[in-house]
Amino acid sequence: PTEIVACPTVREPDGLACSSRNVRLSLAGRAVAPLLHRALLVGRAEIEAGARSAETVRAAIRAVLDCPDNRVQGFLAAGHVCTVTGIRQYEPIAAQYRVPIVVTGFEPLDILSGILMCVRQLEQGTHRVEIQYARSVRADGNPAALRQIYEVFEPVTCKWRGIGEIPQSGLALRAKYALYDAQRRFDVGHVAVAESSECIAGAVLQGRKRPCDCPAFATRCTPEHPLGAPMVSSEGACAAYYRFRRHETKRH
Ligand code: SF4
Repeated sequence: PTEIVACPTVREPDGLACSSRNVRLSLAGRAVAPLLHRALLVGRAEIEAGARSAETVRAAIRAVLDCPDNRVQGFLAAGHVCTVTGIRQYEPIAAQYRVPIVVTGFEPLDILSGILMCVRQLEQGTHRVEIQYARSVRADGNPAALRQIYEVFEPVTCKWRGIGEIPQSGLALRAKYALYDAQRRFDVGHVAVAESSECIAGAVLQGRKRPCDCPAFATRCTPEHPLGAPMVSSEGACAAYYRFRRHETKRH
């Protein structure tokens, strides 16, 4: 067995980690490289110690569950996120809305296993938070990483494609890090992404419609020319329906 021994990072006087990669930085790259480390440390004393819950994901799940015509009965939570956040943030939601939440990995077998665990809970009438992705996720996550994230970022209102604005569902750099915020520093203005009026991604995400109910599915919207987020990456519902040619069969 291999034993991994963690030890403090050895740093240059300006905070840059002493690493074989960093010695290859150009002069310009070397000049800006320590900024990230400095950004993580600025204002550290002003932030309370202790992990913060991932309000962002909770807010989005609540928005789906509070929808009057919601049909979602259970959730597969993203395992890679929970590697940092842990699972505690989901426990009040599972209890309040009586929905099973299974923290699942991204490999095909992980997803099948996560669905099985979710269905078993539904059949048993239970509503717990379970970890399928146990090879990476611990119940309390990675408190040190979470502290660093909330030292630098704060929850803000964020627009979710197909759903709209959800309070406290996104992260933005705290004011004290404005110096490192490209949007503020370079005055690029408000960046808006236009959504196709045909796209029914919100209804798909809430389980009210299937991708093949969308008039643009597999015609004007394909993985090569996506009109909405669920068609962009392979794990998106519309991309998965397209990839496995569900539009060519009658059994949806
Ligand atoms: S098929 Fe395309 S346009 Fe239709 S809901 Fe999916 S992403 Fe949106």
